[in-house]
Amino acid sequence: MRIDILTLFPEMFAGVLGASILGKAADKGIVQYRLINFRDYSESKHGTVDDVPYGGGGGMVLKPEPLFNAVEAIREGGQPRVILMCPQGKRYTQQLAEELAQEEHLVLICGHYEGYDERIREHLATDEISIGDYVLTGGELPAMVVVDSVVRLLPGVLGNERSAACDSFATGLLEHPHYTRPADFRGWKVPDILLSGHHAKIERWRLKESLRRTKERRPDLLEQIELTPEMRSLLHELEAEQKNSGQAGD
Ligand code: SAM
Repeated sequence: MRIDILTLFPEMFAGVLGASILGKAADKGIVQYRLINFRDYSESKHGTVDDVPYGGGGGMVLKPEPLFNAVEAIREGGQPRVILMCPQGKRYTQQLAEELAQEEHLVLICGHYEGYDERIREHLATDEISIGDYVLTGGELPAMVVVDSVVRLLPGVLGNERSAACDSFATGLLEHPHYTRPADFRGWKVPDILLSGHHAKIERWRLKESLRRTKERRPDLLEQIELTPEMRSLLHELEAEQKNSGQAGD
């Protein structure tokens, strides 16, 4: 996969793209990152990329020419997804990360200041992504979020392929709790079942805890998935347990 990031602040990315799993993915040749300062594509001799808004008002607006020029220069005849980082965009989810991980070439555009000239949105971008309902100073952090969540899904990037498939949201549920050694830490014990070595029972416990956690924290997710018979039966068990503990407390 090739990921081109169009930004006015390429220096912000060095640590994130060079370290840990994202850095290793590039070293292995699974992904290639290119940082493009779209100021280099400005048509003014001073490298201007923004201007005052027509109609007045505060803030500066990103001009269309530098971004159109930059994207046209890197497209090389292909039709990459051209993604605007934008608080008004589609809310970013694991499903969207999985969809983007299927692409061969992504172009991520990091906005700044008051925002983009509307023609960039209408005639250059194929997608607009928001990482949440809050406003950041620029699109660099959102672009890093997208790159991280997509690259970890590429085959060969994570040591343990199973871990991405079982992550929260990948299954439609929140992931079950994890424990590691010691089995007893300050009197807080690891559930016996995890020490039993009985794989089928452990998988059942994990599914049940995953359902419990999702029911407690994100019941909306349960409404979006098709429940298997095993999930239904575990949810009944959870309801019965809840009822019993309610009665015990009465
Ligand atoms: N005036 C714009 C508005 O109200 O929609 C906000 C502009 S914001 C200060 C500057 C840039 O930061 C945006 O163009 C975008 O690239 C990025 N940005 C800010 N918040 C974001 C979010 N939640 N998701 C994605 N990008 C965001």
